[in-house]
Amino acid sequence: MVKDPKTVAIIGIGNLGKQIAEWSAAHGYDVNIFDINSEGLIKFFDDISKKLKIGGANGEIRQFNSISGAVKDADLVIEAVPEKLELKKQVFKDIDKHAPSHAIIATNSSSIPVSRIENSVKRKDKLLNLHFYKLPDFPMADIARGTKTSEDTFNMGKNWLESIDVTPLVLKKECLGFVFNRVWRAIKKECLKIWDGGYADLEEVDKAWKVFTKMEIGPFELMDIIGLDVVNDIEMMYYKESGNPDDKPPQILKDKVNKGELGVKTGKGFYNYDAH
Ligand code: NAD
Repeated sequence: MVKDPKTVAIIGIGNLGKQIAEWSAAHGYDVNIFDINSEGLIKFFDDISKKLKIGGANGEIRQFNSISGAVKDADLVIEAVPEKLELKKQVFKDIDKHAPSHAIIATNSSSIPVSRIENSVKRKDKLLNLHFYKLPDFPMADIARGTKTSEDTFNMGKNWLESIDVTPLVLKKECLGFVFNRVWRAIKKECLKIWDGGYADLEEVDKAWKVFTKMEIGPFELMDIIGLDVVNDIEMMYYKESGNPDDKPPQILKDKVNKGELGVKTGKGFYNYDAH
């Protein structure tokens, strides 16, 4: 039996987990959070609690030091740990073990269809892809079913997204990259090739994009916001899937990741940022 969520648990409080937790609490949901990085978790908890109080949010944020604690009274659990299939399988398994039987489990993965994770849980009818975008001014999320997801689960996920003012992008059948990420992936891949091939400076690519779309940021600036480690992991996922050498992300992107130049979060990526 699927019920409308009151308590949402977010597992993995990084770039995206923070955004989902904040949006959920700001719209009146109680939000349980857990991350293996306890220092980062405490800092986020302190910052967000103050921000939500100032904003007069009805939802409460609660921090936990284990997955079992965070999910034990949750109606909806969203996993936002790094883009590694085996890690996500393990996290889903732990959630399935400790969450109430009615709870729905969703992955925020940028590229992995939930059907690839579903063998690690028993509740195969209560699984979703709920893929949020790191575009705070354009709140939207892909929503997709696994092979056994029930219509009740799907409708609950869609209604929940709408309840937090996020536009659902509905997948009729699953595919790598979902709706908008698939479009974004084509753009990103070509941009990286222009940069890797030395055909033009990345600033020129961003300039062209901004003139054409009237957006305030270009693809390289957006990749810096997403995190170059995340971008590289996602590109590797597409490459492993197709086996096509043309899909392999450029080595110079990996070199940046190895040097810790991950974008905004480390103060340097394609561009330089004030360290914070
Ligand atoms: P991130 O690296 O910023 O955050 C991941 C967090 O998970 C970290 O805080 C890490 O400490 C934590 N973590 C790692 N292992 C864990 C575990 N076993 N249990 C609990 N926490 C754990 O990554 P991110 O950018 O937030 O991406 C997370 C997921 O969201 C990925 O699947 C990614 O593909 C997806 N996503 C990212 C973006 C983006 O723009 N960055 C957009 C949409 C979706």
